[in-house]
Amino acid sequence: MPKIQMKTALVEMDGDEMTRIIWQMVKDHLICPFVELRSEYFDLGLENRDRTGDQVTVDSAEATRRLGVAVKCATITPNVQRVEEYGLHQMWKSPNGTIRAILDGTVFRTPIVVGGIEPVVRNWKKPITIARHAYGDVYKNAEMRIPGTGRAELVFTAADGSETRELIHEFSGPGVLQGMHNLDSSIGSFARSCLEYALVTRQDLWFASKDTISKTYDHRFKDVFAEVFEAEYRERFEAAGIEYFYTLIDDAVARVMKAEGGFIWACKNYDGDVMSDMLSSAFGSLAMMTSVLVSPEGSFEYEAAHGTVQRHYYRHLKGEPTSTNSVATIFAWSGALRKRGEMDATPDLVSFANALERATLGTIEAGRMTADLARITTLAGAQALDTEGFILAVAERLRAELA
Ligand code: NAP
Ligand code: MG
Repeated sequence: MPKIQMKTALVEMDGDEMTRIIWQMVKDHLICPFVELRSEYFDLGLENRDRTGDQVTVDSAEATRRLGVAVKCATITPNVQRVEEYGLHQMWKSPNGTIRAILDGTVFRTPIVVGGIEPVVRNWKKPITIARHAYGDVYKNAEMRIPGTGRAELVFTAADGSETRELIHEFSGPGVLQGMHNLDSSIGSFARSCLEYALVTRQDLWFASKDTISKTYDHRFKDVFAEVFEAEYRERFEAAGIEYFYTLIDDAVARVMKAEGGFIWACKNYDGDVMSDMLSSAFGSLAMMTSVLVSPEGSFEYEAAHGTVQRHYYRHLKGEPTSTNSVATIFAWSGALRKRGEMDATPDLVSFANALERATLGTIEAGRMTADLARITTLAGAQALDTEGFILAVAERLRAELA
């Protein structure tokens, strides 16, 4: 079988620990035998980030802006323990944070829905994608403990020195105080990324806030979304047959529980933090969650939502068998290859990505899966495979799909 050709390279960001092992297996068994892979390779493994003073992370993000598509392996975000373990020069920042800041992007997380792994919410038939605004609000707040009687005010001093004041509270006893902010530019980028991603995935977009109570702050979010939608997206949404829909956050939560899925839910920073954990656990497994960072300029970076699966890696190093789920990593690759194919107008690459996903899901539905899924599946007689055994089973099915 001749290999599928790629017109343009994609950015390949290698990573750490067990997911680095899986990365190589996925390339060796599922990608390179079928595709003439063209990639610009960046080693984001912790040793190389340390060696390059984290320049490699910056370079990989710049390359993503240039090439438009990236696929990323999970990476260690160092803490005190990791600094010691790897003898690091410093406690490097989270690579995902660095990449997100350079691309000004929004992260969309989508569960992989497969027969035999049933969501806790019975009526969820299709995935629900969650987008979290990753700037400001309570995550960049200023807080104060108020010792006793006194007046608290919001004071804004403009560049010309003029002041605007708003009374917060006349304290007659001790309490607490908090100030937070957001930016029109950041909300606008978030809105554009969400609207863009809704268009490319042809799904409705929901956005919710608490504008009835927060009449200026949350209302600004609602207005920015509405302004961007009306000015840039309404006609394209109508042509695509999809909808943008705003509601109150409490109404959104109630509707999500009764919905069938198949839409994108854009959340403010705190709502997204809380709701994404609820959604991923209700859909079944963190190992079955994909993640894509979409920039308002239209760059896409695909990865698994889980981490480097450290505990399994230490077992692997001791020569013990592991059964680590590679599905989200496989889907990061298929997502990136499909996007590359769409951007380059190379339908063979798109078909290959679709075949890879069908082969992966088909393998699970045929009862062959890793131990984490074998524990929760509703299929009778499921067989738990080891890490490489599962990937080889997918490869076997993929060859049949492509024949
Ligand atoms: P983790 O790697 O997501 O793993 C936590 C646990 O979840 C594992 O020990 C395993 O449970 C289960 N699990 C996760 N992915 C799995 C998979 N593919 N197959 C089977 N089981 C899976 O989180 P962590 O151990 O808290 O973090 C490890 C490192 O990852 C940290 O250094 C962190 O900085 C990094 N991290 C990176 C990213 C990223 O790059 N996007 C995201 C999160 C964390 P059992 O051990 O019970 O089997
Ligand atoms: Mg959280």
